[in-house]
Amino acid sequence: MGMGETDSAGMKVLIVEDERGISQTLEGYLKREGLATEVATTGPEALRLFRAAVPDLVLLDVMLPELDGFHVLEAIRSRSVVPVILLTARGEEDDRLLGLGLGADDYVVKPFSFRELVARVRAVLRRSYVQDAGELPLRVGRLRVDVARGTAAAGVEVLPLTATEFRILAALAAAPGRLFDRGELIERALPEHDLLERSLDSHLKNLRRKLASVGAGDQLVTVRGLGFKLVAGAA
Ligand code: CA
Repeated sequence: MGMGETDSAGMKVLIVEDERGISQTLEGYLKREGLATEVATTGPEALRLFRAAVPDLVLLDVMLPELDGFHVLEAIRSRSVVPVILLTARGEEDDRLLGLGLGADDYVVKPFSFRELVARVRAVLRRSYVQDAGELPLRVGRLRVDVARGTAAAGVEVLPLTATEFRILAALAAAPGRLFDRGELIERALPEHDLLERSLDSHLKNLRRKLASVGAGDQLVTVRGLGFKLVAGAA
């Protein structure tokens, strides 16, 4: 079954690849699957296009001019959970582990089969957007938290959240009205566990300020001594 027969048709793939022959062939394969494509040939161009084109998936070559794929991946992950598939060189086991550690969803090893890569793209898109109902945007009052795309908005206003603020909001939004104590929030939103507990307060403070700037500040409720919760409207 082709992608055109699923909800993934029309989704956009950002191809980051400096070898013109590879990117052109990839574009042809992905377009036949009903996907839209954008191509960047350097790291900085990838980041510029990522912001401008808001792709649904990124195919990211590791060896790139100016800024390598790992740095591009880090920059993308600082603001988005968009699926990323790395294109790595043969035999570079460390590259694959580093890539997965930085948050890549999958990788293929060059030289790869285009059919195989398209199958991976299809699988990652389906896993990220199509079949998993848990990936549908969460709605709490005026807030809409799209975990799959890493975006949060109040009405039509997008909230400019950091990755940590987003994870805190997403954890709270997954169970509206439920009280989360500090330990639970740290575990869910700060999985690195290497942050001082007090840093949670500054993340919450910043998140509350950003929510307030779009008139949704009263949806984040502090229950003194117990924890925090996200509610649909003012308590
Ligand atoms: Ca390359």
